[in-house]
Amino acid sequence: MDLQQHEPLLTFPFLQPPAPGQTVEVAPGLLWARFALPFSLNHVNVYFIADGDGWAAFDCGIATDSTREQWQALLDGPLAGRPLTRLIISHHHPDHIGLAGWLCERYNLKLLMSQAEYLEGHYIALNPDQMAEGPFRQFYVDHGLSAEATEIVLRQGHGYLRMVTPLPHTFRRLAHGERLRIGDREFEIYTGGGHSSEQVMLYCRAENLFIGADQVLAKISPNVSVWAMEPEGDPLGLYRRSLRELQGQIDADALVLPGHNLPFRGLHLRLQALEEHHAHRCAQLVEACRVAPHSASELVPVMFPRELDPHQLSFAFSEVLAHVNYLVDRDQLRWMPAADGVRRLAAV
Ligand SMILES: [Zn+2]
Repeated sequence: MDLQQHEPLLTFPFLQPPAPGQTVEVAPGLLWARFALPFSLNHVNVYFIADGDGWAAFDCGIATDSTREQWQALLDGPLAGRPLTRLIISHHHPDHIGLAGWLCERYNLKLLMSQAEYLEGHYIALNPDQMAEGPFRQFYVDHGLSAEATEIVLRQGHGYLRMVTPLPHTFRRLAHGERLRIGDREFEIYTGGGHSSEQVMLYCRAENLFIGADQVLAKISPNVSVWAMEPEGDPLGLYRRSLRELQGQIDADALVLPGHNLPFRGLHLRLQALEEHHAHRCAQLVEACRVAPHSASELVPVMFPRELDPHQLSFAFSEVLAHVNYLVDRDQLRWMPAADGVRRLAAV
């Protein structure tokens, strides 16, 4: 199925993203900036919300010298004369949280996050060695992942540390259902699981502005993965529940300000497309396991038929497992006894 099928119906009010060191005003007192990333997904969006005399920042980019230089260009350029007031971080992935520690220390900012994202950021930073050993390694072996791909997945824990500055030891919690006043605006706080544990989104109902972070993107289906820390987790169930909640709570015509890609209108169409995308992938896996039992790694080519490099394979595997756990929890797939040391799945 083509995930882009609803895309022609989305509208993109700002066709040109801001150049490095520049901003685009997406609403009065709400600026959009973009930071480069050294990945195939080559950018992340950051927003600045007028907050009294200064700017509250939403997300902050990865911890590289180039991102620090881009911050300096913004602070010397479009943001000059108005200080940063506080830093809101949507979730603990390095492209969003990377420079949080650096910014909070340098500008004496309070850090606002959901509790799970804050603690998970600390958890990874405090335990770098365990990410590659013991149950974390065995998890991938049990599911039949190749030795090469296993090494790459395990090393991601260490890669994270190189791209994140140490988090402050205190934070202010953002909780689902609460409100947050920033300058003249009142935002409703939403959190959602799936892409990460408790990702924060902000909705200004009066102006119909939805800062959606990575939960809903215009062109990309956000990565929804099972990680070794919670091997029987159901992130896809949490993600689909979050999509339904957003459909019920956020206006269909809201201007969506996402973590990647362009701001857009057409939220409900996009939520529907993402829902159909995952339903289709679930159906593919059940069908494959009806024909013959498959391990999670044998299901990767079913969902991702193209050639994958080991890095892509590691993400693809974790995403397949999210669909597997979802289907096992809902009695559509079942685990078979591991005859050769590899766990395989059959259709129920
Ligand atoms: Zn993310």
